[in-house]
Amino acid sequence: SRLFPKETPLMSRSHDLFEAAQRHIPGGVNSPVRAFRGVGGDPVFFESASGPYAFDADGKRYIDYVGSWGPMILGHAHPEVLAAVRERMDKGLSFGAPTEIETTIADKVCELLPSVDMVRMVSSGTEATMSALRLARGYTGRDKIVKFEGCYHGHADSLLVKAGSGALTFGEPNSPGVPAALAELTITLRYNDIEQVRETFAKIGSEIACIIVEPVAGNMNCIPPVPGFLEGLREVCDQYGSVLIFDEVMTGFRVGLGCAQGTFGITPDLTALGKVIGGGMPVGAFGGKKEIMSHLSPIGPVYQAGTLSGNPIAMAAGLKTLELISEPGFYERLSAKVETLLAGLQERADAAGIPFSTNQAGGMFGLFFTADKVTNYEQATQCNQDHFKAFFHGMLERGVYLAPSAFEAGFVSIMHADQDIQATLDAAADTFKAIAG
Ligand code: PLP
Repeated sequence: SRLFPKETPLMSRSHDLFEAAQRHIPGGVNSPVRAFRGVGGDPVFFESASGPYAFDADGKRYIDYVGSWGPMILGHAHPEVLAAVRERMDKGLSFGAPTEIETTIADKVCELLPSVDMVRMVSSGTEATMSALRLARGYTGRDKIVKFEGCYHGHADSLLVKAGSGALTFGEPNSPGVPAALAELTITLRYNDIEQVRETFAKIGSEIACIIVEPVAGNMNCIPPVPGFLEGLREVCDQYGSVLIFDEVMTGFRVGLGCAQGTFGITPDLTALGKVIGGGMPVGAFGGKKEIMSHLSPIGPVYQAGTLSGNPIAMAAGLKTLELISEPGFYERLSAKVETLLAGLQERADAAGIPFSTNQAGGMFGLFFTADKVTNYEQATQCNQDHFKAFFHGMLERGVYLAPSAFEAGFVSIMHADQDIQATLDAAADTFKAIAG
């Protein structure tokens, strides 16, 4: 159709690689959203990346706004991060025993996040939220949990209920394989609707172990909290003795150095981290109040473990990343880049007469094909999907790599220079015009 003129050419190496990948990998990918089912066409196979650019298997260059889904806040292959990794690597890959660098990064996280007295390292965001959830249940002795529609917290059973991200893209909010008996313990409420939270707690608050929330939702596109929402969650948890878990796997060190909790001034009881904290290596972490973290094995009864947890190479990448983002002015510079990008996109969409709006939280952003400001899940799902797909493919063809799903946030790195943003806006102007026809 006119809206989908250009998909990956059949002659590309990505096409051949995708064919080959599908022989022994389900869907040809190791994480579903990579398969481009949300936009159609073949996924782009990448070969290398540097700064703001990623290069595909045919050598084509893209300005990358996915950044490995958030971690690459310093841009790809940052020389200082690579040097830190190389230096650690020469000393051995893994010991399964404590190393000093684990203490150094724990101290750094506690220094940056006043809500975190103690922190444990894991290997993914999924492990971080799953473990925080178990800890909250173990600490309170309660089984029920509250989450919000369109928020994605990884793929642990209890959390894969009405989830966002890939689960939303594929229209399977409840995955087969999640036992109904477990899913029943997950209460899913509307994001940004504090009244519904209050009503629910008024009925069964004393049975609820925790509220888990993305303090800025980034898995139903990018939706910041409305004023009063996070404050209300804090109040309700205090009133009913429930644990407030901020899932900052995406927002952590992305919206600001103090994470979303610093930006919005709300203190959670537990925080889940991932992405940026690993600097591109497989890392997650969860931490919080000493009183709660002390319930964790080996000092407490709640079990949690990992062969590669705190892996020294991964810690080296994470620690160097945390050091570099701590430099004064880093987030002001990062946010300014996003503001320039979003203002420019809005201007060009308006000029082409395409209904369009944007959201921003520090270094992350959302693009919506609707004239309205989007503040909830329902609005996000009602945006013009055809326009999004056409925009995605138009930009891809013009050398700009955006998330291949309308339900993902976008990410800018500190290496995106003015000329990269300008080139992105030029590509967008042409793409919007083509969509308008
Ligand atoms: N929580 C949030 C908010 C996320 O965005 C993600 C991943 O996108 C996760 C948890 C899961 O992290 P991982 O993919 O590292 O398991």
